[in-house]
Amino acid sequence: MKRGKVKTIAVPPWLYEEIRELKHELKVESMYEAIAKVVEEYREMHEIKHLNTYKDHIKLLHNNRVIDVYIKLREGRNGRRLDLYCDYDKSDDCVHIRYCWWNEKIRKALLEILEKGYTDPVPGDV
Ligand SMILES: [Zn+2]
Repeated sequence: MKRGKVKTIAVPPWLYEEIRELKHELKVESMYEAIAKVVEEYREMHEIKHLNTYKDHIKLLHNNRVIDVYIKLREGRNGRRLDLYCDYDKSDDCVHIRYCWWNEKIRKALLEILEKGYTDPVPGDV
């Protein structure tokens, strides 16, 4: 992380509260670390492209790498549940998973899968 001479910005109280909550959620020490994390995530999100969504996985492109995110549908006591798993990061909590819920086209397909159990392939924007 770049360090240097500190500059001050003024933010309205509601934004101050938002950043304070983020600091807590992201489990970071300072307000500026919370902002830095959000900025980093925002930049990363915009480097990811949606290639295709199929009924059991999503194909993304990130830094010239094809990323597969698998869709797992589970029938539980409290109804149907949808989990995502990133094959690249071997994780269910990474920037690719967050991207899938953040991208409107993918989110719509995921909600359709959750409701009907399947979706027709959804082409991405690339
Ligand atoms: Zn990932």
